[in-house]
Amino acid sequence: MLQNKFGIIFGVANKRSIAWATAQALHAAGARLAFTYQGDRLKENVEGLTNDAMPGSLLIPCDVTKQEEVDETFRRVGKEFGRLDFLIHSIAYAPREALNGEFLDTSREAFVTALEISAYSLAQLARAATPLMTEGGSIVCMTYYGAEKVVAGYNIMGVAKAALEASTRYLAHDLGPRNIRVNAISAGPIQTLSARGVGDFSSMLKHAAEKAPLRRNVEPREVGNTALFLCSSMASAITGEVIYVDCGYNIMGI
Ligand code: NAP
Repeated sequence: MLQNKFGIIFGVANKRSIAWATAQALHAAGARLAFTYQGDRLKENVEGLTNDAMPGSLLIPCDVTKQEEVDETFRRVGKEFGRLDFLIHSIAYAPREALNGEFLDTSREAFVTALEISAYSLAQLARAATPLMTEGGSIVCMTYYGAEKVVAGYNIMGVAKAALEASTRYLAHDLGPRNIRVNAISAGPIQTLSARGVGDFSSMLKHAAEKAPLRRNVEPREVGNTALFLCSSMASAITGEVIYVDCGYNIMGI
């Protein structure tokens, strides 16, 4: 499905990362992939995963708060691949203290940091990727239900995800004429490194599995498969959407 296609994936921290499940789906479909990692701490993880499963992948350090690293990332991708067909944005961050207690107490610093890394980075990366998407493209980011309804403890990350979802629509409008599609996947709760920072995450997992029509939690593989669909020509008329991959949880009232 993705033979002769080139993609870049932001957000593999370890084998539990949604970005890694997505990489596996894209790789199995034939895509050639570049991965970014934030600092040397994660380099070994990403190297270990890709050396075994996807030798020949391009690995590049990139902290999205450092514009020079973003510029260097896309310079290298341009040099190695010559073109880019898709970009997976699977990164988010908020200071831990802002993901507990009341949203009311969110500090200015936590607000700005969360919004910069989790939401602004989508526009930042889209802007850098666009010149390489010469044959059209697909940009996919990861969001969560806490963007639209209150999920106690999700706090500033809910506000950041609301900004991410709105950014998805504005970018879809800007980039549509270049045949670049931009979509968000709203995944149900998954036990990952970032999820551990969210207050009372295990209650969220239990609640979602009990209430969702499918009576279970989503698997990372299922999010990866949806990203594959969105990156493929099968989704050629879909842009600006938030697609739920949550076992149906979001449709429920009482
Ligand atoms: P994860 O494995 O911890 O991935 C989050 C990634 O974001 C990590 O690789 C992290 O690197 C990276 N990141 C943080 N700050 C960064 C920066 N300044 N520059 C570059 N990368 C940075 O957790 P995940 O759950 O798979 O999260 C992936 C995406 O899915 C996030 O957008 C998350 O909000 C979303 N999502 C998760 C769930 C869930 O329940 N897990 C549900 C819905 C949506 P570091 O480890 O170095 O910080």
